[in-house]
Amino acid sequence: MAIVGAGSIGLAVAWRAAQAGAEVVVHDPEPGSGASRVAAGMIAPVTESHYGEAALTPFMAASADAWPDFARELEAASGVLVGFRDMPTIVVGVEDGDRAEVERQTELYRLTARNVEVLTGRAVRTAEPLLNHRVRAGVLATEDRAVDPRAVHAALLVAAERAGVRIEAGAVREPGEIDADQVVIAAGCGSARFGLPVRPVRGVVLRLRAAADQAVPRTTVRGYVKGHSVYIVTRENGEVVVGATSDERGFDRTTGTAGAVHDLLRRSIELVPETAEYHLDEISVGFRPGTPDNLPLIGRLDARTIAATGHYRNGIALIPATATAVAEVLRGGDPGLIRAFDPARFGRPAPGAAGRADGPDSGKTEALEGSMQRLDAPFSGAPESNVHGGSDKSGAGDVRRRSESDRSSEDGSVEEET
Ligand SMILES: Cc1cc2nc3c(=O)[nH]c(=O)nc-3n(C[C@H](O)[C@H](O)[C@H](O)COP(=O)(O)OP(=O)(O)OC[C@H]3O[C@@H](n4cnc5c(N)ncnc54)[C@H](O)[C@@H]3O)c2cc1C
Repeated sequence: MAIVGAGSIGLAVAWRAAQAGAEVVVHDPEPGSGASRVAAGMIAPVTESHYGEAALTPFMAASADAWPDFARELEAASGVLVGFRDMPTIVVGVEDGDRAEVERQTELYRLTARNVEVLTGRAVRTAEPLLNHRVRAGVLATEDRAVDPRAVHAALLVAAERAGVRIEAGAVREPGEIDADQVVIAAGCGSARFGLPVRPVRGVVLRLRAAADQAVPRTTVRGYVKGHSVYIVTRENGEVVVGATSDERGFDRTTGTAGAVHDLLRRSIELVPETAEYHLDEISVGFRPGTPDNLPLIGRLDARTIAATGHYRNGIALIPATATAVAEVLRGGDPGLIRAFDPARFGRPAPGAAGRADGPDSGKTEALEGSMQRLDAPFSGAPESNVHGGSDKSGAGDVRRRSESDRSSEDGSVEEET
């Protein structure tokens, strides 16, 4: 069988298929150059719940529950540590309006039927000592977790190759050109080329670095600052990821980064003042593979082709469940939890749709969805570094397809962010 795309989804599907005995070839001009390289790595079945996406809740829950064993198995198979952390998420607001937003979100979190604790007074500071002293209440999602997506991708590459998967460098223009009995389309935003309704939703994240003697948050901190959301994800190695902006301007990586960096830093410092003391390591821009209803596309397109794409802001969280689900589809089993993600809900891709993607024409360009720029010294690289990116400022008149949660920002509440 063949897989188009060696992001985390394609590689996880390939690894599982090879373990089941299939001969697997994965095609990608640049494995790991897509969203999987940019993602923050939250596995957040509670704090990633959004209105209008109830069908995702059981799938997110199943995947989050599968992550601890998946991480252990992947580390054992590859010898690469994937930075899995069983750390809770705390959600807070500083101003009145932001606290009201947290309360509104808490109602939604409770619908996931997972553990949600409302904290007040000293309990908030005990849960996360680095919070701004003005934060007096918060919500703790004890079952949210996090992982290092770059380490996961590196581990998947090794594990897949050790299981016999062959990686072929090159972009696929249409499934018909591949010699294989089964083809899985897992090309992230590049999946639009194959007639699938996937659009790029641009996001900027910052990678900060804490020195060994600096304090770092012990939770994933999410919150709202004057109606805008921000998150801070900390890794064991001192990396602190601050994200993320969200806007829709195709594959534009060339505008808006300065504003994005300013906004993300301002908001993160407001929630956790200590973040101002860290080193700014990297600014990265990626493109979430969004779909018209923000749910993934997982299932058969025809007797030969399967879609495993459109994971939008949750593609890292959904790695284990997606790999299991595609293995089940290949076996011809019951779709179960992925029934709601049947790609046929938007109609079948038209024959010959390949090559009519919204994105750039060459598969090569589509493949280079993520870009990043390392900064050698704190705040020193901006002018000449040609950092590509975007901000979440909604420019008047810019044509943007908005998700449910995006829309809520227009009435003064929050923006979609992961
Ligand atoms: C800023 C940001 C923050 C995020 N944070 C989180 C988070 O905290 N938690 C979470 O769960 N998710 C998060 N996500 C979402 C997550 O990154 C994606 O959903 C996930 O990485 C999608 O994985 P993928 O393998 O489908 O796609 P990708 O990682 O984009 O990989 C697609 C691959 O397909 C290849 N390709 C494209 N076209 C072709 C072609 N024609 N032929 C061959 N190969 C091709 C590309 O080269 C690429 O390697 C975030 C995303 C962004 C942008």
